[in-house]
Amino acid sequence: MVYLDNAATSVPKSPYLKEVMDEYLNIGAYNISRSSYKGAYKLEEYIFDTRERVREFFHAKSDTTVAFSSGVTQSLNLFINGFFKKGDDVLISPFEHNAVMRPLEALSKRFDGCLSYTILPYIKDRALKEEDVKPLIKKNTRAIIINHTSNVSGRVEDIEFYSGIAKKYNLILVVDAAQGAGSSEIYFDRHSIDFLAFTNHKGLLALQGGGGALISSRLCGQLEPLIYGGTGSNSDSFIMPSSLPDKFEAGTQNILGIISLSAGLRFLCEVGVKKVGEHKNRCCSLFLEALGSLPSYEVVGRDTKNEYSGLVSIRHRTKDIGLLAASLDRDFDIATRVGLHCAPLAHKSLGTLESGGTIRFSFSYFTKDEEIEAALKALKALM
Ligand code: PMP
Repeated sequence: MVYLDNAATSVPKSPYLKEVMDEYLNIGAYNISRSSYKGAYKLEEYIFDTRERVREFFHAKSDTTVAFSSGVTQSLNLFINGFFKKGDDVLISPFEHNAVMRPLEALSKRFDGCLSYTILPYIKDRALKEEDVKPLIKKNTRAIIINHTSNVSGRVEDIEFYSGIAKKYNLILVVDAAQGAGSSEIYFDRHSIDFLAFTNHKGLLALQGGGGALISSRLCGQLEPLIYGGTGSNSDSFIMPSSLPDKFEAGTQNILGIISLSAGLRFLCEVGVKKVGEHKNRCCSLFLEALGSLPSYEVVGRDTKNEYSGLVSIRHRTKDIGLLAASLDRDFDIATRVGLHCAPLAHKSLGTLESGGTIRFSFSYFTKDEEIEAALKALKALM
């Protein structure tokens, strides 16, 4: 099979995955932070090292909290449910995933409608400027949530710009790095990010069901936990501890997932994120160039001078994209993703919501030219 669905989940994962899984099983699948014997301590060390690796990978200071979770969805739920109060407003990018929209809508309902969000404009032919954003900032605006890299168009946001806005207007800056992590360098400290949500299973080349958040020291005290329960610390109290990361990590953690992340980060650090990103961009260029001679297809969302990364979304000018994607799989053994990609807001912004979305081709460091050529050949045959 030609696998071009790496934005959904990357396949293959890190070449080190098997080695660390063996190591994990050799140590023993013990629990951590609760158990007082050698094997458990060894695993705890592994988890400690992985937290360090995460900080280094995202260029974060040593006092940044790394809280593990099941992935970006859980992390964003932590931020949204743990930070906002009745009456708040939040600025969001026009490309937010349902991992932002649904928790916001649900919390707003719980607050009897007293939580609002303001969608930043999508301006096709230029980047946003401060004067586009300033009129949208109200007295009750408390945060700004930005999708680092759109899972629909691949558009990469200029985090430095939003960092300037957040600083100037005293907003908490939240970045959804589901797609950006492992394709672009992300500078947690330099860009004064307060909350960065990441997931294992896409560009970080690790196992599904894991991920986490980097949380700035200024935000930690303002953020309530999402999940309450045992932490192995302060066990004489019915109240969650304020120590970090315990405050945000109740219950037994996904130790296997965290260890798999260490394998992903090890590989990415060896190769270098820059090189990985360049390879993915080369795949996009190759695909886009050849697609130029297939006029039945329209490329979606690449109509600005912005930066793009990792994926290309297309639709057919007349044919049903669901049937096309099914044929790519059935007749050509090519795996893509079709539809709204859980991001209806992005499709609304791009004008592809009503027509049912796009077919997305997403690449990885391991994608070969022959695989891209096979996809193009199939698209030509299906014109
Ligand atoms: N945000 C974006 C932009 C995504 O692409 C995804 C995954 N489709 C998510 C959030 C959800 O991530 P996770 O699978 O880690 O919950």
